[in-house]
Amino acid sequence: RAALIDGKAFAAGLVQRLAARIETLKSTTGRVPGLAVVLIGDDPASQVYVNAKNRQTTAAGMQSFVHRLPADTSSDALLALVDALNLDPHVNGILVQLPLPAHLDAAAVINAIAPAKDVDGFHISNAGLLATGQKALVPCTPLGCLMLLKDRLVDLSGLNALVIGKSNIVGKPMAQLLMAENCTVTVAHSKTRNLPALCRAADIVVVAAGRPELVRGDWISPGATVIDVGINRVERDGKSRLVGDVAFAEASHAGAITPVPGGVGPMTIACLLSNTLTAFARQHGLADA
Ligand code: NAD
Repeated sequence: RAALIDGKAFAAGLVQRLAARIETLKSTTGRVPGLAVVLIGDDPASQVYVNAKNRQTTAAGMQSFVHRLPADTSSDALLALVDALNLDPHVNGILVQLPLPAHLDAAAVINAIAPAKDVDGFHISNAGLLATGQKALVPCTPLGCLMLLKDRLVDLSGLNALVIGKSNIVGKPMAQLLMAENCTVTVAHSKTRNLPALCRAADIVVVAAGRPELVRGDWISPGATVIDVGINRVERDGKSRLVGDVAFAEASHAGAITPVPGGVGPMTIACLLSNTLTAFARQHGLADA
């Protein structure tokens, strides 16, 4: 059977190590990292994410500042808040929860965040640093996927990696991270031809397409490592449940696979906390963890 990659346990261990480091920082510097999260409007999924981020930030010993703004907030008002957070010394990380209401320009808002505080890693400056192999703040979900892959495989050098999905949030930065590990990287997307054949040639498959059970068992080469980023709510036998982008039940011949839920999901918030600590350390001239 395929080994189960337990993202939930890995994330819990990571948060524990971060909390210990924060405790030490608190006693040596008298300060703790602060994360500001900005939520505009009342999208229910975003509310759930922001509440979880707030809870876990506080639980790890950091300061959490949540700014909830009405759905009709103007671009000027939002940019003014971002500016104020950029200047606030208690705020080391800033995250604007996406998606934004349609009248706001997400790229403009993200690029207004000070790159050193951009803990989502979506600012063009961080994207450029990552793409050119320089020290960046790296988007949380692909960073979490890479941690799971390195924990499992140790050395990724020379492996064939297929990334399915080319979003700025997951697919593109994932491909950059795998290239930096000297993988041979293929990026597939909705217009890709012959996806099953590309998949069969891959030692590593990272799927972030948002298509329930897109990747079938017979696409996966025996022994391959499969990271399933997808979170899809589907109706099965009259019940609502979460499934990934991989047909999990058909993938028992994989070497290892992440479950949904309990795989990549918990890693995302853990990496957000890790990025906040990294941002704090760099702003204070301390070594990275
Ligand atoms: P997105 O919609 O921005 O991008 C999807 C990508 O998949 C696109 O590049 C598209 O071309 C590609 N794609 C779509 N259908 C395809 C197909 N049939 N074959 C090949 N490629 C196809 O989505 P995203 O923001 O990158 O998120 C992807 C998935 O990951 C979603 O299910 C999302 O919920 C999930 N997600 C999970 C986490 C987490 O913490 N686990 C974080 C972010 C996103």
